[in-house]
Amino acid sequence: MAYRSAADLLGSQARQLEPSEQGIWELYTANVHWQWQAGSRRMWFNGILVWLDFPALVADGVLYLAEHDIAFTVLPLGNQQVNQALNDASEKPKPRILIDPGHGGRDPGAVNENFALREKALALKTALQLAETLRLLGWQVLLTREDDTFVPLQKRVQMALETEVDLFVSIHYNAAVNPLAEGIEVFILTPPTAEEQAAAKLLPGHQHFADSLLLGWHLQQALIRQTQATDRGVRRDRFAVLRDLQQPGVLVELGFLSHEATARRLTEPGAVLELVEALTIGLEAYQNCLNRD
Ligand SMILES: [Zn+2]
Repeated sequence: MAYRSAADLLGSQARQLEPSEQGIWELYTANVHWQWQAGSRRMWFNGILVWLDFPALVADGVLYLAEHDIAFTVLPLGNQQVNQALNDASEKPKPRILIDPGHGGRDPGAVNENFALREKALALKTALQLAETLRLLGWQVLLTREDDTFVPLQKRVQMALETEVDLFVSIHYNAAVNPLAEGIEVFILTPPTAEEQAAAKLLPGHQHFADSLLLGWHLQQALIRQTQATDRGVRRDRFAVLRDLQQPGVLVELGFLSHEATARRLTEPGAVLELVEALTIGLEAYQNCLNRD
């Protein structure tokens, strides 16, 4: 894996690149505060955690990033920020979005019996409120399910392909064996490996990787800022609902039902609405920052 110096890469705009006491390396460019952790896959873009595929490395007092991560993560995020000021939000047509409430019917998803919480019901409630909010803002909204029915994963993707929506957002809540696990995370499709690129065997979802990354970052930023939840970052996985999309798409995990304080919070009125407001802010911000139009 080839590596390049982060300071050289971000070039003339770099004003500072030095390690703090926690091994965090920082670099400031025009509108961006970049942070990396030496020996780790963690990067923070304007304070929001974004996972890289390879660790940042330090040699002779210089921070190096993998070429793969530069191409698939650093540059798409950095370029978007530069373009932000040039775009006028008000003139953009509102996109068509397919909202996918996870699970349903015989598949309850994560469950917390103590608080009578079921992921399938929370995801549906979130999706329906998000649909209503976005429609008021002029978005065209479709849903993969509008009641407690089972929808196979492939059918959800098929709906995205058939309706040719501009965006796909799958809504989930998670659970972990560790009761202390908490926070919010957004998944995007793992970028193609070097082997996949060499063999030209990209997944359909890879076509829109950069936009999915931007969508994921904007959603995660809004969710963390609005809720003050623990930032688990923009992560990568090869989920079935993301692999075959032919539009930008993400899967959001809005909190751990296995975490007591999170579960209690989710039983309170207004908790889901707070998440819906954050998702709305993130979607509108993404729409205003697209690299191309
Ligand atoms: Zn789920």
